[in-house]
Amino acid sequence: MDFTLTPEQETFRADVRSWLEQNIPREWTRRVMASSEVPRPEAYEFLRSWQHKLYDAGFIGLTWPKEYGGRGLSFLEEMVLHEEMSLAKAPPILNVLGVGMAGPTIIAYGTEEQKQRYPAKILSCDEIWCQGYSEPNAGSDLASLQTRAVKDGDHWVINGQKVWTSLAHVSDWMMLLARTDPTAPKHKGITYFLLDMKLPGVTVKPLRQITGDAEFNEVFFDNVRVHESQVLGGVNNGWAVGLTTLMYERLALGFGLQTRLRIAVDAVIELARQMEKGGRAITKDAVMRQKLAQLWIDTEALKYTGARAVTKLLRGELPGPEASTGKMGWVETHQKLQEIAMEIQGPYSQLMRGGDRAVEGGVWQYTFLRSRANSIEGGTTEIQKNIIGERVLGLPKG
Ligand SMILES: Cc1cc2nc3c(=O)[nH]c(=O)nc-3n(C[C@H](O)[C@H](O)[C@H](O)COP(=O)(O)OP(=O)(O)OC[C@H]3O[C@@H](n4cnc5c(N)ncnc54)[C@H](O)[C@@H]3O)c2cc1C
Repeated sequence: MDFTLTPEQETFRADVRSWLEQNIPREWTRRVMASSEVPRPEAYEFLRSWQHKLYDAGFIGLTWPKEYGGRGLSFLEEMVLHEEMSLAKAPPILNVLGVGMAGPTIIAYGTEEQKQRYPAKILSCDEIWCQGYSEPNAGSDLASLQTRAVKDGDHWVINGQKVWTSLAHVSDWMMLLARTDPTAPKHKGITYFLLDMKLPGVTVKPLRQITGDAEFNEVFFDNVRVHESQVLGGVNNGWAVGLTTLMYERLALGFGLQTRLRIAVDAVIELARQMEKGGRAITKDAVMRQKLAQLWIDTEALKYTGARAVTKLLRGELPGPEASTGKMGWVETHQKLQEIAMEIQGPYSQLMRGGDRAVEGGVWQYTFLRSRANSIEGGTTEIQKNIIGERVLGLPKG
């Protein structure tokens, strides 16, 4: 790893820093909100306009080609941008799945027409994307998906159901995986569609989570007619295209969640400075000090795991299955952080959002509950361990 910046990259860092200083909206004062990695419903409109502002300033889609709305820069600039966003405690973006996954996959596999049509609107947040992969009987075993697409003239007719579809309730487009050849082996008969969520026959039903928010959904398809020009990367080639999306998901996890984690560590240390235990500042508690120091160390270690992935990218290689260690490390550190935030609050940890005595408006209670899903979303911890066992350590398949 050599992260010495060129003079141009140093100038880029200075530009990002001063832009953030001047442009982080004043209403973004709730520091702890910045630590949550999930866009909260009450913040959707705020985050939409924040993302648009980043786009206008050229601070989003740095590595995307210029002709598709990006800046054609390297992953080193992307890393610098995220470091500066952490330092400035900048708000997250709203179109996380579009920017992290849909856009890069369209740029990799799209026709020229598709590449002209979608990426820039993803970056500007004019069009929000969701990911239609999981089904009631296809999660970890994604290749078992049953949503069907049958050819009818120059259209495909889609029937079936997706579940756990984050942000579908505010999305304009979906990355949809559907089975187009039921006679082929299960990984081979799948096609990747760019699906307009406003087509007749698409129904979105929100699912309420343990946090009280309905952040993900069931999505039903009832004879939805999708034009053949909406296939991405070729008919029956959806498994390869879909895996590319997941590879970008891991990358996005590496950059985006690392930024949020850094902000959350600072916030939990700040929380500890304010709280007392038995009439004594909690920061005087030796065990708590050890726990906070360990959190900081784990977060630094994750930063360097992410930096290894950046090194590979700069060498023109793709991040491999070892990126699963980054996801697992993030899950463990983030869930531990949220548990420590509860411990710091002691009996106050039972006061939820809305209570007048809830610490910092009860935001930690929300992020604690939300963090339980971290070990499921983006591939469960067991599946990440299988990947490491089989593809990194070369152990026999389970
Ligand atoms: C907050 C949240 C947001 C999500 N957003 C989206 C989204 O936007 N789009 C989308 O498509 N999906 C989304 N998902 C779905 C997510 O990808 C799946 O929940 C996940 O892949 C697990 O699938 P499953 O729920 O069907 O569980 P299952 O696959 O049925 O797993 C159940 C349990 O069995 C274990 N298990 C399964 N197979 C194995 C194995 N081979 N070896 C060892 N253990 C195994 C799992 O680890 C788990 O503990 C989201 C999930 C959550 C929680």
